[in-house]
Amino acid sequence: MRAQGFENPLDFSQLPVDVRAALRHYDERVSDHLRRARDAVIPGPWKNHRALPKIFLTHLDKAFGVYDESLRFVLSHLHRSGWTVTCAPGCHYCCTQLPSGLTGVEILYLYHGAFRAGVLDRMFRRSMERMEMWGEICRWDRENPANLSIGLRTAERLGRYHTLDVPCPFLHAGLCSFYRQRPLACRIHFSLSPPHWCRPDHFQYAHAVRFNVEPSSQVMDDLQRLDESLELNLSDLLVCGFVECTVNVMAFRPIRWLENPH
Ligand code: SF4
Ligand code: SF4
Repeated sequence: MRAQGFENPLDFSQLPVDVRAALRHYDERVSDHLRRARDAVIPGPWKNHRALPKIFLTHLDKAFGVYDESLRFVLSHLHRSGWTVTCAPGCHYCCTQLPSGLTGVEILYLYHGAFRAGVLDRMFRRSMERMEMWGEICRWDRENPANLSIGLRTAERLGRYHTLDVPCPFLHAGLCSFYRQRPLACRIHFSLSPPHWCRPDHFQYAHAVRFNVEPSSQVMDDLQRLDESLELNLSDLLVCGFVECTVNVMAFRPIRWLENPH
């Protein structure tokens, strides 16, 4: 678990034993569902028809549902420890960031949400627009190289993207259109400072106290294995990965959900 530039309220090694044990138990449950989802993948139907057993989706839904439970548990622990997390339903200033570090299966999950809601074309167009903005930032960067490591350069580019103040393609009327399918990067991001400080044009933006409740390596490993079983090889940036998934993996088709694959 990592925080940005302030005393970390979530230093795992400093958490009480019972809290650590509870979090490990949540991780086990999340991993169990991710492994069951992986076991459900049948290579032939997936490769040839983009078909997956319905049970795959059931386990994916459950994995993310349990993950949300674990986050609520973390927030209640923080609250009991005297920290006040200021995030509230409907707050969306952070939805002008470009979510990064996504696994392919998280992007596929969003794709499913967009298709099922009948808005894939619109989401695709919006993602393309954001991808072009990101491309502009990367081009400018290449023409004006700074002496930065790859990690720092990406962080710097992401920071610059945020200052453009462009809403995520999936944000509609201040709400996430695919809240249930939103990626981990969106689930784990919180603030201790006033919400409007998260706005990139706010004068206190640089002093906003935001932090991520990082997923455990166990959960990340299981998500990566799920990616491998689906042979997804997508950009880890939300808009780029979504465009790649739509064109290269799904070719604008729905995922076919199989009742009884055997
Ligand atoms: S991180 Fe900031 S913008 Fe996002 S929900 Fe929390 S307070 Fe609101
Ligand atoms: S996917 Fe949803 S929660 Fe995440 S940035 Fe986009 S609108 Fe916000």
